[in-house]
Amino acid sequence: MESGTHHHPHLRERIREAGGIYEWANDVLIRIAGPAQLGDGPGAPCTHCGRTRVEHVERDGVLYCPEE
Ligand SMILES: [Zn+2]
Repeated sequence: MESGTHHHPHLRERIREAGGIYEWANDVLIRIAGPAQLGDGPGAPCTHCGRTRVEHVERDGVLYCPEE
């Protein structure tokens, strides 16, 4: 497992290295659900529904509000 402190240079390269959009999205989901690192973690409410990010459904790299 990679450490949460690992820095990634470019998003597109990260997607490529991860083996595609689905693997990348899974990695994103893990980071969203993990501890906050950049001040934009689970504590920040969604501007659409007011819920935290961890309560959202991630699909194809996009976050969807849970009530949609
Ligand atoms: Zn939302």
